[in-house]
Amino acid sequence: MEFTIEKLVRENIRRMTPYSSARHEFAGEAAIFLDANENSIDSPVHLVVTGKDSSLQLNRYPDPLQHELKEKISRVKGVPAENIFLGNGSDEAIDLLFRIFCTPGKDNVIIFPPTYGMYEVCAEINDIEVKKVPLLSNFQINLEALEQTIDQNTRLIFICSPNNPTGNSMNREDVETILNNFDGLVIVDEAYINYARQRSFIPELTEYPNLVILQTFSKAWGLAGLRLGMAFAGLPVIEYMNKVKYPYNISTATQQLALAALEMVPTVNNWIQATEEQKSRLQKELGALSFTQHIYPSDANFLLVKMKEAKKVYDYLSQKGIVVRDRSRVKLCEDCLRITIGTIEENNQLTDALKNYPA
Ligand SMILES: *Cc1c(COP(=O)(O)O)cnc(C)c1O
Repeated sequence: MEFTIEKLVRENIRRMTPYSSARHEFAGEAAIFLDANENSIDSPVHLVVTGKDSSLQLNRYPDPLQHELKEKISRVKGVPAENIFLGNGSDEAIDLLFRIFCTPGKDNVIIFPPTYGMYEVCAEINDIEVKKVPLLSNFQINLEALEQTIDQNTRLIFICSPNNPTGNSMNREDVETILNNFDGLVIVDEAYINYARQRSFIPELTEYPNLVILQTFSKAWGLAGLRLGMAFAGLPVIEYMNKVKYPYNISTATQQLALAALEMVPTVNNWIQATEEQKSRLQKELGALSFTQHIYPSDANFLLVKMKEAKKVYDYLSQKGIVVRDRSRVKLCEDCLRITIGTIEENNQLTDALKNYPA
């Protein structure tokens, strides 16, 4: 299967000239910056990041390509900095892939429902057809149905692994089969990879020019409020993402806070461990409830739980002030609730409430 990026990129994107910022055009070392119409005096707020002696300089525009942060992510993830794109959450990367590679009203993408909702939302916003190939009853990819569905206008295939809301990882060989046989982009969304037994596809990046891996600071890293997502891909894909993104898409505050977070790898690993322990505990306690019908195996920080009349359980929990995700009307997830693993105390309250549920 031959992968040629120029055949994949939208005509208008291929031809356009990207925005060139003041800092883009000047390459040397300077002491006085009078090129970007910033307020040279000061910024009205000062943020001191843990481990930094000085406060952030917010009156200046941020580094458009986030060099320092990418160097650090590169060391943590084992991906060359030039193969990293950073966005305002993974959602920015997802949206950019549509805008770069899919022509509205003409091209289509493939998703495997039940899965993460943003792929379809982004497709609709961009007027791109979504072809759905439902997962098999074991929540794995239906390769035969996929083969029937791909056509000459299929540009992107989204594989969420571990998958939200089903919690399982996709069979590695199936993902490789798709990577080997599809000449569009294969996006492997690894938002929950830190909780998975399966390893990341990062080592495969050098082998597959059509592979895009998404990861995020929103889950295991504990920074959902910061809005920082990562995409890892071959240079041609990353270059187009940089060409189309907003010039200053990641704020100075976000860059500095993420740099500080990346010093905390051992703490994050402890949290992952603690979450795994609480997951095992919830599997046991929820499994013992008379109205629990099935708990699906989970490679993520949530459990998909099939319960007798799940909607009623959902309403009962809501009324106790505990909100879980009702997936009971989602195909293949009938009567299922998706429950995020909480803190010990939150999980105590959840299990106490459920033990008192009048089943
Ligand atoms: C939570 C989640 C994300 C994260 O999105 P951000 O925009 O980075 O917060 C991405 N993909 C999946 C499947 C998720 O569940």
